[in-house]
Amino acid sequence: MGRINSDWHKANRMPANPTKKQRAEWHFEHAKHCACRALTPSIVSLLVSQGFDVPKEARLA
Ligand SMILES: [Zn+2]
Repeated sequence: MGRINSDWHKANRMPANPTKKQRAEWHFEHAKHCACRALTPSIVSLLVSQGFDVPKEARLA
């Protein structure tokens, strides 16, 4: 586990019943701003399938 950016988490809650696109957006921003969890292969494939890149700051699982 990396360091949690709790300010970012307070300001960026995952919506209830998120769409794939919303989840991908959340994980994309999360990976840039917070290191509390690594990107799993399933999140990486979600990002790619929704047209996002894997942020260079991301920590991979
Ligand atoms: Zn986090």
